[in-house]
Amino acid sequence: MINQERLVNTLIDLVKLDSETKFERKVADYAKAKLESLGFSVREDEAGEKIGGNAGNVIGYHPGDGQGKSLLFCAHMDTVKPGIGVKPQIRDGVIYSSGDTILGGDDKAGMAAIFEAIETAQENNIPCGPIQVVFTVAEEGGLLGAKQLEVEKMQPVDAAFSFDSDGMPSDICVAAPHHIAITVTFTGKAVHSGMEPEKGINAIYMMAEAIHNMKLGRIDEETTANFGVVNGGRATNIVTESVTIWGEARSLNKEKVDAQIAHMTKCCEEAAAKFGGKVEVITEEEYSAINLDKDSVIVQMASQAAEKLGLTPNLVKSGGGTDANVFCGKGIPACNIGVGMENVHSMEECLSIEKMAMASKVILELIKAAK
Ligand SMILES: [Zn+2]
Repeated sequence: MINQERLVNTLIDLVKLDSETKFERKVADYAKAKLESLGFSVREDEAGEKIGGNAGNVIGYHPGDGQGKSLLFCAHMDTVKPGIGVKPQIRDGVIYSSGDTILGGDDKAGMAAIFEAIETAQENNIPCGPIQVVFTVAEEGGLLGAKQLEVEKMQPVDAAFSFDSDGMPSDICVAAPHHIAITVTFTGKAVHSGMEPEKGINAIYMMAEAIHNMKLGRIDEETTANFGVVNGGRATNIVTESVTIWGEARSLNKEKVDAQIAHMTKCCEEAAAKFGGKVEVITEEEYSAINLDKDSVIVQMASQAAEKLGLTPNLVKSGGGTDANVFCGKGIPACNIGVGMENVHSMEECLSIEKMAMASKVILELIKAAK
């Protein structure tokens, strides 16, 4: 039923529209026009102004016949760099860039699959319930667009499906971590290290003491922690006044990630106190966990849609975050489904037409199953 040629043409149109993170204007305009042509009421929110981009999230709503579950389909409009002037090429059923840019199938494959499923449903008079489509900005910049979504202004949602993953549409991400970023700045006292070192307080020593006492790396099967960047110091003959370290903690379990961050903070405070220095700890929630029960309505729907197409559902855990994490954090059950992209965030990125078409078929099955 899916029109594969039209699907590919839509994808080609989309990847030719430059949309590196925070410059999604052209794709947002395309998406708005397309959704309007499909009978959706469409609005663009203020995310663009709030994050310093040139477009907001595009939110479309079609009430259908008003019956059945309310579904939300999501994809992101931005791409990583280098994403300017993409020249798509098709070889043996796979779409590539010309090799000097990314392709941008991440996540325009998700957008194209959503458009095609809705268009197919409409032209075949398949009964549809309420459908919301959300195309976000700046996903690649840290889920910035999704974080700005005001769910209270949106229609109610029973299940949200994000199409923003590599692999098959039978690969259903049902678990992804809660992620908290931590930035620590130790401040000591600078003096000449050759003349009066005893009068100084070395921020590097505070940092070393703190890290030495900290549990990091693999904490347990669902929790990890890391410091990955360090900056500080001016010269070998100066007792270091200031050091900043940047790190993170992740866990599928919110309490565990909070406990880990508390532990890291405590080690920093104790180290600063021991040396008589100061410490400032700033934490920021990057995104919430996805932790869906395999018997939940949403996972059942996604699994059954795959099965209808002869695929075996593969419930997967991710170590990273997508817009689906943000939806879950806002109280909307959301999973992330594969849409056939490969080698994402590289110039070798490619997209299997067959898998993208399969994702579109999955969306069509979800629309049918919601009735
Ligand atoms: Zn993506």
